[in-house]
Amino acid sequence: DPGAPPTLVVRDVTVRFAGVLALDGVDLTVRPDSVHALIGPNGAGKSTLFNVLSGVCRADSGSVTLAGRELTGCAPHRIAELGVARTFQNIVLTRGTVAQNVLLGRHVLTRGGFVATALGLPGTRREQRIHLARAREIAEFVGLGRLFDIPVDLLSYGDRKRVELARALCMEPTLLLLDEPVAGMNAAERARMAATIGRVRAALGLSILLVEHDMGLIMRIADEVTVLDFGRGIATGTPREVQRDPEVIRAYLGT
Ligand code: ADP
Ligand code: MG
Repeated sequence: DPGAPPTLVVRDVTVRFAGVLALDGVDLTVRPDSVHALIGPNGAGKSTLFNVLSGVCRADSGSVTLAGRELTGCAPHRIAELGVARTFQNIVLTRGTVAQNVLLGRHVLTRGGFVATALGLPGTRREQRIHLARAREIAEFVGLGRLFDIPVDLLSYGDRKRVELARALCMEPTLLLLDEPVAGMNAAERARMAATIGRVRAALGLSILLVEHDMGLIMRIADEVTVLDFGRGIATGTPREVQRDPEVIRAYLGT
C-alpha cells in the first residue's frame, strides 16, 4: 500500500553526551514490511539510535514517530506497548526454559507490565492459554519448536539468539529492532538466521531495522540501508547503491 504511512520516521534527531555528538541531525524512514539495515563504523551512533528508538536514551532534539504516532519522550515500556520490540547486541535471557523466556514478551501486551514472572502471567486461565499457544507458535516459527521446554542454558549460542528473537516477536511488534543478530555466529548459523529473518518479514507483516556488519547478509536480506558516520546519516538507498557511494567508501576506508 503506497499510501500507508511509513512504519518509522526519525527526523533530525540529535543526542549529545558530555563532549560527544553521538547523533547529529539524523533522519531515517523505515517503510512498511521492509528490512532496513543501519550500518557504520564503530562509534558512528548506531546503538545510540537504537536506544533512542526504544526509549532508553532521550534525544536532545528531533522527533520519532511510529506509524504516525509520536514516540518522542515516551518511556521504554510505553514504546514497547506502542509496538517497538528489540534484541540486544549481547544476549539478555533469564533463567528457565525457552517457553518461559518467550512468554516474557507477552507481558508487554498485558496491563500488568514486566513485573510478573513467566509462570505468573497475569490474566485469566483462558488468556494464559492463549499466550502460551502464541509463544509456542512463534517458537516453532523461528525453529525452536522442539526446544520449547528446554532450559536456555543448554542451548547453543545460535539457538539462544533465536530465543531473543522469539521473545521480541511475542510482543507482536510493528517494528523490530535487531542489534547485530548474527554477531558471533558461525557460517551455518548465520545462513539459518538470515533465512529466519526473511521469513519473519514475509509472514508477520512487520518492519525490521537491524544493525549489522556482515555486508553479505545485508545484501541478501535488506531492502534499504542507511549509513551513519560520526553521528550523521551519510547515505540511504538500496544495498547496491550504498555500496557504490563514494562518501560511504571514504567513511569505511578512512581516507
Ligand atoms: P556504535 O553503536 O555505532 O558503535 P555508539 O552509539 O555506541 O556507536 O556511540 C556513538 C558515540 O557516542 C561514541 O563516540 C560513543 O563513545 C559515545 N557514547 C555512546 N554512549 C555513550 C554514553 N552513555 N556516554 C557517553 N558517550 C557515549
Ligand atoms: Mg554499537
